[in-house]
Amino acid sequence: MTPERYEKIRRVLSRRQPTLTVLMDEVNKPHNFSAILRTCDAVGVLTAHAVPPKSGALPTFDATSGSAHKWVGVVKHPDALGAVRQLQAQDVQVLATHLSQRSLDYREPDYTRPTCVLLGAEKWGVSDEAAEAADANIVIPMFGMVQSLNVSVAAATILFEAQRQRLAAGMYATPQLAPAELERLAFEWAYP
Ligand code: SAM
Repeated sequence: MTPERYEKIRRVLSRRQPTLTVLMDEVNKPHNFSAILRTCDAVGVLTAHAVPPKSGALPTFDATSGSAHKWVGVVKHPDALGAVRQLQAQDVQVLATHLSQRSLDYREPDYTRPTCVLLGAEKWGVSDEAAEAADANIVIPMFGMVQSLNVSVAAATILFEAQRQRLAAGMYATPQLAPAELERLAFEWAYP
């Protein structure tokens, strides 16, 4: 471990956003799962959440992640509704990406608040019960012939809006992690 590498780790951790996360509800294609984690790393998500597909394990990581899985933790949950309630109990607003009547334009919510973006399975989307339990439903307006985007593209679009708002609010300029936690994670990342 060179001093430069250790400094880079500390710099990255000093921009991590522990109050921004995603919940992947049965996202089952490895390239989508990995691409979402790569975007999480880029915007500073510290820990992502995931409900594994019914088939069992979380989708395996592939080259698409660009090693992001090493830098973004993943917490597994048995079901989406339980995960939504658990996050809300920690004062996190859950924004479900859902194509429904009550969906807001994805740029409307305040992403400087503790926020989780709930993303749905490739085929079925977010379950109705999880969307119902969410604090709001959001949608990226679509004007084409196809009804929806690829889930990793939708995740990136929304997370970079969150990044834009948080940059404007100065949330990348001062560490959001407590000093002791930042140092603990730096050591862990440097010497896994
Ligand atoms: N038939 C599914 C439905 O009606 O929800 C389509 C699922 S879409 C291919 C997979 C996931 O991508 C969605 O659950 C959502 O998380 C995200 N997504 C796709 N297009 C979106 C959009 N326009 N706005 C917000 N999220 C979108």
